[in-house]
Amino acid sequence: MKRINRPEAHQKLASFKAKNKNAKWNDFRNYASGKLYEQVRKDLFIAQGWLCAYCETKIPSDDCKKHHRRIEHFHSKGDQCNLDYDITFDWKNLLGVCRGGSDKSNTEQYEVPANLTCDAHKERMESTGGYSKNWHGSLLFPTQIPENVSFFTFEKNTGKLAANIEVCSRFNLQPNNFDTTAELVNNTILSLNLNCRRLNEARREILFERERIIKKVRETGNKGYLNFFYNKWLTDNSLPFSTTRKCLVRL
Ligand SMILES: [Zn+2]
Repeated sequence: MKRINRPEAHQKLASFKAKNKNAKWNDFRNYASGKLYEQVRKDLFIAQGWLCAYCETKIPSDDCKKHHRRIEHFHSKGDQCNLDYDITFDWKNLLGVCRGGSDKSNTEQYEVPANLTCDAHKERMESTGGYSKNWHGSLLFPTQIPENVSFFTFEKNTGKLAANIEVCSRFNLQPNNFDTTAELVNNTILSLNLNCRRLNEARREILFERERIIKKVRETGNKGYLNFFYNKWLTDNSLPFSTTRKCLVRL
């Protein structure tokens, strides 16, 4: 998970809510033949470089594959507590996410629920593990991650992510239900199931990509080739598994 930069508010979403005070999420989904919903969904993914806000897999921008995109409520909209803000239509509470391994192509290949991730896993933790629907303080929230900071390490042998203890120790993120930022980061990995086999294997592919680049550099003696990729990996936030790439460049 990495930082997401985006506007503070979404004017059309706020305007819909202002005009439709009693609207439920489904009313919004169906409003104007679903065009506004689709606009909001697209705007979320555009700000995220078409990556899932949680696992960083690439989401197709092609309109015929829009069923691959989901709008996630970080603080689950099913929370019945009395809140002083509207979690359903608050732009700040929304993220664009993947289908979390719940689609047919993944369920045919990977065991479920062991390979459910992102909101699919988070939802499961709420319904079967008794977890609170308010995840602030239990999970990192992407727009609140500091600029140019990665709280993660990447384990080459397994493809797993873990908290970077040294980096985490320099930050005191709030809200945090734990004693340290490292614990918050590790709980984020656990709650979103980011270390499942499906994602570990996908992240290891980035390692193999790096090995192919290094092999080519050895064969050609062209060090600029490696620098070109490393620079792209550090600066292009629309590349899948951006966090893993940055960890590999820093190794
Ligand atoms: Zn995801």
